[in-house]
Amino acid sequence: MSKRLVIIGAGIGGLGTAGLFAKKGYDVTVLEKNATLGGRANVFEADGFRFDMGPSWYLAPDLFEHYFNLVGERVSDHLDLVRLSPSYRIFFNNDPEPLDINSDIEIDSATFEAIEPGSAKRLRAYLKQSEYQYGIATQHFMYKNYDTIFDFFNRRVMTEGQKLSVFSKMHSFVSRFFKSRKLQQVMEYTMVFLGTSPYDAPALYNLMSHMDFNQGVFYPRGGFYELINALARVCEKNGAVLRTDSPVAEIIVENGVTTGVCLADGEIVEADIVISNADIWFTETKLLAEKWRTHPQKYWDKRVMAPSAFIMYLGVNEKLPNLTHHNLLFSEDWRKNFDDIYKDPCLPDEPSLYVCAPSVSDAWVAPDGKENLFVLVPIASDLKMTEDEKETYSDRVLALMEREMNLPGLREKIVYKRLYTVDNFAADYNAFKGSALGLAHTIWQTAIFRPNNVSKKVKGLYYVGAGVNPGIGTQICLISAELVYKRVHGITSAEPLNSI
Ligand SMILES: Cc1cc2nc3c(=O)[nH]c(=O)nc-3n(C[C@H](O)[C@H](O)[C@H](O)COP(=O)(O)OP(=O)(O)OC[C@H]3O[C@@H](n4cnc5c(N)ncnc54)[C@H](O)[C@@H]3O)c2cc1C
Repeated sequence: MSKRLVIIGAGIGGLGTAGLFAKKGYDVTVLEKNATLGGRANVFEADGFRFDMGPSWYLAPDLFEHYFNLVGERVSDHLDLVRLSPSYRIFFNNDPEPLDINSDIEIDSATFEAIEPGSAKRLRAYLKQSEYQYGIATQHFMYKNYDTIFDFFNRRVMTEGQKLSVFSKMHSFVSRFFKSRKLQQVMEYTMVFLGTSPYDAPALYNLMSHMDFNQGVFYPRGGFYELINALARVCEKNGAVLRTDSPVAEIIVENGVTTGVCLADGEIVEADIVISNADIWFTETKLLAEKWRTHPQKYWDKRVMAPSAFIMYLGVNEKLPNLTHHNLLFSEDWRKNFDDIYKDPCLPDEPSLYVCAPSVSDAWVAPDGKENLFVLVPIASDLKMTEDEKETYSDRVLALMEREMNLPGLREKIVYKRLYTVDNFAADYNAFKGSALGLAHTIWQTAIFRPNNVSKKVKGLYYVGAGVNPGIGTQICLISAELVYKRVHGITSAEPLNSI
């Protein structure tokens, strides 16, 4: 008889896990509290616009391909990936000249050289280092479950650690290569993807530059949610049952062993193994009785949270030729921007922000002649805002975009607007402190120091998703799915699996 496995939550980690175990022959049921699958990678439609609600950067295509291969599929059978050109555009406050990154070393090094003489050569050296680190990380570190400090501080880390820059900070590392503020910002902005600041992140994360500069930036035609549709197809093809509108209220534990879950309406779903993809703080403190928690609430109170986000989904009644698919606006006072998020939480006056305009490359996501905009301002998690404050802030951000991104009259052109922020993340996804991304990637919340994917107190209970190893990001949550698969099957290797 096949083993019964229940997965709580249909985020990328939950769906990814369901696909692997269903393929292996387990009897898999996924229970998702919301009406739609995908978790933070969700979607909604309004007035002819189709808005991806969360992720929009399809980076590291090799990691997605690896996952699909494990479940016997090819990405190209499911997704029509477009390589974006330019990859993204950066606007700088009080500077009329935006800068395009093309993920083409000849073009990008010329762009760098024009800003800082001598930097073309240094860019090549930097990207070589990023590529090396990416290779080491993906082949030897990211696909490994860590149990003891000795697993992490082994000979390989100690010998490679210096080369891998595990022990220095991102900003000092970048400053060794580039002196101009602009170029430093270009190399550091990806730290926001990891929910941390370049002043706190280990320099190891310069491997992110390998993804956007060397590998390129991709977009699944139809929108990012096509990835969720693909993962759901793989699950169902292998027999997994995906249930929406099914909030779990309790993980049932008998004599230290889980026997299943109880839904909010009292239904019991029995299981031999329970894997929770819900926010790990929520799982531990709300779904388990106190004696079965691996960590008490005070452990969570001490965690450093990644930012939340102030998001605007906008329908605009005309095309905006000044924008490309991905656009970033960087504020002049970079450090203050990060302090507003991490040190002295407040709404940034002059925020750095991100604008995705998928309708630039995909006619399907907006009515003819209109533009679909996703505007994201990273803000501190747990920040409280009244509805009036949200409206006022939205107007301020739009005014900033009009001025600094050369979008005159933008506010008059908006035909659809929805705001989404801290309280929405908390309500929709049970997110601790309403964080958009979960636990930040500080050095003390990386690898062995991130919560483990197996309960210390309850046999048969596991965790998957951004809150455990390796952490935040869609493709990274698919690695988390593979790690929980390895954990259940007692596989201790450091390398990605060749097959399941
Ligand atoms: C605005 C935004 C932009 C992002 N941009 C990118 C990007 O461009 N590229 C990228 O790679 N990554 C990006 N990310 C990060 C990435 O989206 C996340 O790291 C990833 O989607 C998290 O997946 P997860 O597996 O941790 O699950 P989650 O998405 O957190 O899903 C957990 C699921 O559990 C469900 N759940 C919670 N409680 C219960 C319960 N009691 N019962 C049943 N179900 C429950 C929730 O409803 C949810 O569906 C972005 C994230 C956000 C928010």
